[in-house]
Amino acid sequence: MKTQLELATPQVDFAALQDIGRKLLVAIGQDPNNPDLKKTPDRFARWWREFIEYNSGSINTVFETKNIDQVIVISGMRIWSICEHHLLPFYCHVSIGYIPNGRVLGLSKFARVSHLVAHKPQTQEKLAQEIADIISKVTKSKDVAVLACGEHLCMLMRGIKTEGLMTSCVTKGVFRKESSARAEFMEIAKGVKP
Ligand code: ZN
Repeated sequence: MKTQLELATPQVDFAALQDIGRKLLVAIGQDPNNPDLKKTPDRFARWWREFIEYNSGSINTVFETKNIDQVIVISGMRIWSICEHHLLPFYCHVSIGYIPNGRVLGLSKFARVSHLVAHKPQTQEKLAQEIADIISKVTKSKDVAVLACGEHLCMLMRGIKTEGLMTSCVTKGVFRKESSARAEFMEIAKGVKP
């Protein structure tokens, strides 16, 4: 069956992005008429359009089931997003756990939800929270956990220039209330190498 979850795909101003691409080249001391750079503003605009207008497809298909009483964890999904403070990329390994409440979500939907959330400027904390909120809404399960382990280019290639992983964990329902459920989720999810 389908749940009602309306999510609009944002649109970019493509001509404005091409213009920004040209201006960016000038601002960093490059000649946009240099044959090697001539197509760069267009590539710049196309990459932003591809990223922002990403279509993750349907995320709403759930299957009604009975007698499913288990913790389900989907892990090892690597997704790319953009840090809203520096507009530099970061990637996260995302693990999603939930206990079905009479309905299970198709396996690919967890990746679709992760990509849907990832394709905009934001922080890792917001990304993990929004994935958890959508999974909870679509499955109607209060028991949802999301673990995100990310590496951020704004820390790696600028500023402090240090390798480091950031881990954020969102827990809802039993995963928040009971340490044993939380530990079970973490135990399954931590097998994933960042
Ligand atoms: Zn940043």
